[in-house]
Parts: sequence; C-alpha cells; structure tokens
Amino acid sequence: MATVKSFRCTNPKCQAKSEGKFLSEKPTCPQCKIGAEHERFGNLIVRLVEVHFDPPSEVPGFGLGVRACDRSKPIQAEMGGNGMPNPFHAGTGVLRAVTCEKCKKSAAFLNAMMSEEDDARGVAEAAFSRLAMGAPV
Ligand SMILES: [Zn+2]
Ligand SMILES: [Zn+2]
Repeated sequence: MATVKSFRCTNPKCQAKSEGKFLSEKPTCPQCKIGAEHERFGNLIVRLVEVHFDPPSEVPGFGLGVRACDRSKPIQAEMGGNGMPNPFHAGTGVLRAVTCEKCKKSAAFLNAMMSEEDDARGVAEAAFSRLAMGAPV
C-alpha cells in the first residue's frame, strides 16, 4: 500500500496555489498533471522532507527519537531494508519547524506547545486554538 507523501511542483504556473505543494501517493501534480515520470519535465516535481515532532525525553535538549504521529517509528526509519536511513523524514523539537500535519495534532506536540515559556504562552495558545479548530497555522 502506497503512503501519502509531500511533494512540490516547481512549475511556475502552479506556484499561486500553496506554492505548488501537494500531498499524494503519486508524484503527479494535481494542477498541471505533470508527473515525476514525465520525460521532459519530470524534474519539476520534487519530494519534500517531512519534519516530524520529536517528543521531549527526560533528558533536556534530547528527544525520544521517534515520530510523535507514530511512536513505533524512529524519526528516520530505514528505507528499502538496506540499512540506509530514509532521507525524506526528519525530526525536531522546535515546534515551528514541524511540517507533519499528523504530528501537529498529536498530544505530545500540543502539550509541548502549552508548556512553552510564559512570554510565548499567548502565541502558543492562539496557535493551539487554531489547531483545535483544524485550521492551518
Ligand atoms: Zn504543477
Ligand atoms: Zn509525523
């Protein structure tokens, strides 16, 4: 079963809508219909790295090294069974840098957001309420 991945179409005419970004099982732009297999323009389609939230561990400054959206998976699960880390997944403890939509809705992410510094609390709570309503941040 194919999984949904993040892509960006760099075709200039696709930039107006979400900068050409799209989620799909296949690397085919929903706007211009150009796919990565296109013989002339396939390289317009680039796969984006998914940045997951790495939940904090009991050691400050270090994360658990797993994806908040699926704790059974290390941040960089190996690809193709050859021991190479998957280059399309990254992790961070920096809330702003997280791009994975599933991680943004995880309890670990929301808790981290709530417990940020007092001076950032207003901002975080505003973001939290936007998340709770399912709106883009
Ligand atoms: Zn396109
Ligand atoms: Zn994630």
